[in-house]
Amino acid sequence: MKKNFKEAYHRAQAELEMLYEIGNAMHVTLNLEKILYIILTSVTSHVGLSFNRAMLLLVNEKENRLEGKMGIGPDSAEDANAVWSHIEKHKMGFDELIETRSQLEHLNKSQLNKTVRSIKIPISDDSGVVAATVMEGMPFAIISEKAKQKTKSEISQILNLEEFVTVPLKARDKTIGVIVADNLYTKKPITNDHIRMLTTFANQAGLAIENSRLYERTVVLSNSDSLTGLWHHGYFQYLLGQEIEYASSRKQPFTILMIDIDDFKKFNDTHGHQAGDAILRSISSIFKTISKRIDIVARYGGEEFVILLPATKKEEAIVLAERLRNAIEESKDIRGITISTGVASFPEDGKEKESLISSADRALYQAKRTGKNKVCS
Ligand code: GH3
Ligand code: MG
Ligand code: MG
Repeated sequence: MKKNFKEAYHRAQAELEMLYEIGNAMHVTLNLEKILYIILTSVTSHVGLSFNRAMLLLVNEKENRLEGKMGIGPDSAEDANAVWSHIEKHKMGFDELIETRSQLEHLNKSQLNKTVRSIKIPISDDSGVVAATVMEGMPFAIISEKAKQKTKSEISQILNLEEFVTVPLKARDKTIGVIVADNLYTKKPITNDHIRMLTTFANQAGLAIENSRLYERTVVLSNSDSLTGLWHHGYFQYLLGQEIEYASSRKQPFTILMIDIDDFKKFNDTHGHQAGDAILRSISSIFKTISKRIDIVARYGGEEFVILLPATKKEEAIVLAERLRNAIEESKDIRGITISTGVASFPEDGKEKESLISSADRALYQAKRTGKNKVCS
């Protein structure tokens, strides 16, 4: 009896320490993507809850559905062994596991992550166990044969789930999402203890997600341009500074495109300022549609835009710039409008903000001088 008590005590202490460490990690960032990454790493890492795989879905209230946001875990048994022996060999602690930016780049290649991100589940009675987790606000363990049979038809097929657990992510009494976790590769049985710990953890995680969303909303509102919804000049300067630091430390290139609408004064004079504003909006949405998720699109000034392409060499950037130029020229909504673009790359065209921007400006000026509707570098 005394021995059992001691064991339980030590286990409780270890759990508390783990939750404390994870809580600290979540407090150092407010970026949603990073928060989700830290949460799922905590669910899967050996120093955390050590599930083989973890998937996270968030509620989209407007659409009344769950949307897959991120999945962490090996894509195959071989992949699993490689990952775990790497972690073991390098004695990676929690801090290293959540060194997030390079890991987030790595995530782009994961099949599991891709699959999870494509999942959309309506929140209704006949949508199965993941939707039920939201509606009931409680965890489900799919462990018995009977339970497995019952869930055969749904998400378990897409994710190849056999025995798994779902827990609600809660923020102030509201369920904002679900974590799904399993041990696909080790087949380690999921115990009540695991479920209890995951549930406790999910409450903390839900709050961190909610805080980060509130924060991101504030950042977006206060740093974007009200006409186009793009980042404004000041915030672009900040992001450019950050990118220079990151790219320098990694010895990695990046490229900026400085874009200016051709003969826009004439357009305004002919069609009026409001028609001009509509053009600025249309162009912005074309830029956003064609750019990648990690690209930074900003309105630099009146009818000037700047796009920062992380980890992109000049040649690739020119290809994108040509696609943008062509898309604007061909667009049916904005007939007759063209753009000129100046391209400059870090570090070859400038190692500081000022020199990089003036390089791009000079290239833009050359595009204007030599006939407009073109890309120069
Ligand atoms: P270029 O091909 O050399 O770039 O000629 P341009 O006429 O585009 O260049 P210029 O710098 O002479 O004029 C820019 C014009 O952009 C002036 C202004 O009427 C228009 N513009 C700037 N900001 C806005 C805006 O917010 N809304 C509208 N409608 N027009 C704007
Ligand atoms: Mg201009
Ligand atoms: Mg112009």
